[in-house]
Amino acid sequence: MSTLLGCIADDFTGATDLAGLLARSGRKVSLRIGLPEGPSDDPAPFEVIALKIRTAPVDTAVAEACAALDWLRAAGAERFFWKYCSTFDSTPEGNIGPVSEALMDRLGARQTIYCPAFPENGRSIFMGNLFVGRQPLAESPMKDHPLTPMRDSNLMRLLEPQVTGKVGLVDRLCVAQGAEAIRAELDRLAGQDIAHVVVDAVADADLDAIARACRDMALMTGGSAVAMPLPDLLAETGKLREGASRPEQPRLAPEAFVASGSCSAMTRAQVRSFLDAGRPGFRLRPEDLDRDGIGPARDWLQAQDLTQAPLVYASADPDDVRAAQDALGVARAGTLVEDALAELAVLARDLGARRFVVAGGETSGAVTGALGVARLDIGAEIAPGVPWCYCNSAGAEIALALKSGNFGTEDFFQGALEKLDER
Ligand code: ADP
Repeated sequence: MSTLLGCIADDFTGATDLAGLLARSGRKVSLRIGLPEGPSDDPAPFEVIALKIRTAPVDTAVAEACAALDWLRAAGAERFFWKYCSTFDSTPEGNIGPVSEALMDRLGARQTIYCPAFPENGRSIFMGNLFVGRQPLAESPMKDHPLTPMRDSNLMRLLEPQVTGKVGLVDRLCVAQGAEAIRAELDRLAGQDIAHVVVDAVADADLDAIARACRDMALMTGGSAVAMPLPDLLAETGKLREGASRPEQPRLAPEAFVASGSCSAMTRAQVRSFLDAGRPGFRLRPEDLDRDGIGPARDWLQAQDLTQAPLVYASADPDDVRAAQDALGVARAGTLVEDALAELAVLARDLGARRFVVAGGETSGAVTGALGVARLDIGAEIAPGVPWCYCNSAGAEIALALKSGNFGTEDFFQGALEKLDER
């Protein structure tokens, strides 16, 4: 089988989100963590490569994205998608525009679109302006983001300093007329040498029309949502072969392990809800880890019945987090927790755990790294943007649910584990 659509994502949980939405189509989607080593042995029709280049220096971001493109082309892909955050997280230097331009150059593409809209999650674009819920981007909490503060809501103005080519807009009035009107407007703009086109979208129907209009573009760019219609559209071309369906959910042993390193409000509510339901839990404190090491947590985990899905959590409220950071430094407090959860996940696997639920973006990176996971096959969605993923760790088939910060509802841990037994 060869790849139909090759996707490059600028961070890890963004890649999981995209892979989950593509897999809604019921087709086989594979997620690779970092640039894969060597040629693809068994490419899936839909491949997503998770890079970590959102805030990397521009040269690094461009080089890694181009290497990912080459790998996807070697796997057979002729259509490509560049995925960034639905809040267009970037600085005036990049990396959204420079990566798009480099990928277009390599593909010989004259034009691409920019559509970070994700209506299901409240991200919409009107007259080129991005909204987060009812707030313009620049009035949303994103204005204070520590790395990529977004101080303008206008996507054309944000994009212009990032690219050398001309920037234009297909507005909602055109999008509302459907795929053919969008296609005609893109052609008209191409006639004026407009290479970078922001496209308005406020609803899923808009995204369907946009994806259809852009079906033949070598490169599309955006948030995850505009890619969602692509599997079905590409299937219409007849290029999708037999065996391209999502694999059956494997039957895995019931032993499970839940690790939570996220301190977001939703994750803390999820931890509370899981413990309130009578599940066994062990709280990690960075200060204890610094003083006593990981021994007590290992001893506790070793004594647990893994069919009860024991939870180890460092999730704490802001005051506790601040106290730990004041005592140990922000980086040291974070690393102590991430390293401990990663080591405990490996111990759980060695003790027989085959189902893992992990909360936290950075925490997910640490745990998958320690489990030696490079490729994940995407399964059923648990919550929007959070699918079950299947992979191999030290010879064992395992399932992983990787959840970033505020995703999911309060019963997420419980619900995720139950979902795995649905047939
Ligand atoms: P999220 O997806 O919610 O941002 P992450 O895992 O990406 O979660 O980030 C949470 C960070 O906070 C991690 O680096 C983690 O190690 C750190 N952390 C977790 N618990 C604590 C704590 N009690 N004190 C200090 N830092 C913590």
